[in-house]
Amino acid sequence: MSLRVGVIGAGGIGSDHIRRLRWTLSGVEVIAIADPDGARTAAVAEGLDVTIESSGAALIANDRVDAVLVASPGFTHADLVTACLAIGKPVFCEKPLAITADEAWRVVEAEVATGRRLVQVGFMRRYDASYRALKATLDGGDIGQPLVIHAAHRNPEVPDWWTTDLTIKDSLVHDADIVRFLTGEEIVASRVLRPRASSRLADVQDPLVILLETTSGILVDVELSVNIAYGYDIRAEVIGETGTAALGDGGLVTLKRAGARSTDVPTDWRQRFALAYDRELQDWIDATSAGETTGPSSWDGFVATTVAEASHRSYQDGQRVEVQLADRPAIYR
Ligand code: NAP
Repeated sequence: MSLRVGVIGAGGIGSDHIRRLRWTLSGVEVIAIADPDGARTAAVAEGLDVTIESSGAALIANDRVDAVLVASPGFTHADLVTACLAIGKPVFCEKPLAITADEAWRVVEAEVATGRRLVQVGFMRRYDASYRALKATLDGGDIGQPLVIHAAHRNPEVPDWWTTDLTIKDSLVHDADIVRFLTGEEIVASRVLRPRASSRLADVQDPLVILLETTSGILVDVELSVNIAYGYDIRAEVIGETGTAALGDGGLVTLKRAGARSTDVPTDWRQRFALAYDRELQDWIDATSAGETTGPSSWDGFVATTVAEASHRSYQDGQRVEVQLADRPAIYR
């Protein structure tokens, strides 16, 4: 029997996930959608046999919904995930798990109270073939101990309501999580630098450079650019003791023409991480159908949000800020 999923939030990534649940992935059907934008919901639901719920809470309470996918804005996540946990319903939550570390910790406590893991967080980079190959290279010791990581997270554009706070709280969580995944270490401190700001965005400090330190002292510089115009570009290069290893930078085809060589740059996250989203959600469907939970956890979501919060403090006061973590509960060990 297919896993019956309800989707909360039918905007950019919610509609993309609904499409892949419908057409690409197996063992699943979307049976309910909740989003305050009626026209958008109707368009996304067209051709689907779904119930349009009046709110996320109503969707979660629907007995026919076996599992919930949360794809509404980040500030709604903690309450929606906690409501799922209160009735023991499995939930996939897009990143960030929460906007503040306190809210994320509330989710962790609610999950711990159920006695088992029920939450998977949407850190899809862990499912990306290129990041996995990079991790395998590091784990295999091919370049010795990692010393420095240069990373970049570049978006071509953001909506006009975007803020610098969102760059830190909504975007940096991806880099915070993938550094932990690649190195197996915690991030212990953050310092945010403000380079010359692009004139393309009023009232947003863009780009930011964020220096993260890991337990063993690996230094990670993350350039976060949210309005870089040329494309969506995610980069990581690890400098080790005996070599370097970087994410591949090639498109599918390298074109040589008229005395120039070119390759495509993805236009957005949909294109760059399409297969990673497929893999993370198929993993979620398979595990949930088997009564299990896999992938990035609420603990991972909590840690990423805590790093983002420390970075936000550093952005405000210009100082190096230490990342203070609570003890990791047993269900996440
Ligand atoms: P979006 O395009 O603004 O879509 C969000 C949708 O949720 C909108 O239709 C919005 O309606 C609706 N919504 C707002 N409050 C809601 C509520 N309480 N219950 C149900 N629906 C609600 O945003 P998005 O780009 O899809 O991002 C959604 C989340 O996914 C964010 O947390 C974002 O960080 C994450 N995301 C992750 C990735 C990734 O790479 N993993 C990529 C993109 C986005 P209104 O417009 O009427 O408010």
